[in-house]
Amino acid sequence: MIKLQDVSRSHTVGTTTVHALRNVTAEIPDGAFAFIVGPSGSGKSTLLYLIGALDDLSGGDIEVDGISLSSLSPSGRDAFRRDTLGFIFQSFNLLPNLTAVENVLVPFLAKGVSRELRQQAIDLLESVGLKDRVEHRPLELSGGEQQRVAIARALLKDPKIILADEPTGELDSKTGAGVIECLRGLNREHGATVVIVTHDQSYIEDGDVILEIRDGELIAERVTNS
Ligand code: ADP
Ligand code: MG
Repeated sequence: MIKLQDVSRSHTVGTTTVHALRNVTAEIPDGAFAFIVGPSGSGKSTLLYLIGALDDLSGGDIEVDGISLSSLSPSGRDAFRRDTLGFIFQSFNLLPNLTAVENVLVPFLAKGVSRELRQQAIDLLESVGLKDRVEHRPLELSGGEQQRVAIARALLKDPKIILADEPTGELDSKTGAGVIECLRGLNREHGATVVIVTHDQSYIEDGDVILEIRDGELIAERVTNS
C-alpha cells in the first residue's frame, strides 16, 4: 500500500514560492492500476517523483508498505529505489549504442551479467512482445517498441511498484494504447502496483484507481466503474 499523508512540496525561486503540491492525502492499494491525472503543471510528476523517493517532501509523509520514506537514510532510499521500484519515463531514456537486451540490463552491466540474468532480460523482452527485437538498437525500433524496452528494463527486478511518468506522451494514440495494455498485462501477471501519470484519460478502465490533481491539490480520489 502506498499511503500519502498531507503530502506537500513547494519550490522557492527567488522571492516566489510555488506550491507544486498541497496536503495531498490518498491511498493506492497493493496491486492497483492507478492513474494520476490533471492538467499540465498541476503537480502530477512531482507526486510521482515523491512516491519514488526521487525528490524530497516539504511536508507530510509517504509510507510504502508501512515504511515512511522520510525516515530512510540515503542508502535506505537507494535500496528502496533499487529493490522496490521500476521507473518509466516519457522519453524512454535508452542508450543509443546498446541493443535492446543490453538496455534492459543497463543497471547491471557494470557489475557483470550472468547468463541467467541475460536470459531473464530476453524473456522479459518476449513478454512485452519484442522477441524478434532483442539485438536491435533504439534507432532500429519504433517509439512504441522503445517504450516497451524501457518497460522491460523497469521490470527486470520484478519490482513491487512501477511508476510511469507520461509513458505514452511521445507516442501516437494507438501505440500509446498498446503500451498501457502491456502495463496492464504485467500488472495482472506480476501483481505489481502500477501508477501512471497521464493527461489522457481515454486509457482509464473499470477498476482503475484515479487520483485527480488540480493546482497541486487532490480534487478527487476514486475507483472507476461505469
Ligand atoms: P505536471 O507533471 O502536472 O505537469 P509538475 O509536477 O511537473 O506538473 O509541476 C508542478 C508545478 O511545480 C509547476 O507549476 C512547476 O512549474 C513547478 N515546479 C516543478 N518543479 C520545480 C522546480 N524544480 N522548481 C520550481 N518549480 C517547479
Ligand atoms: Mg509532468
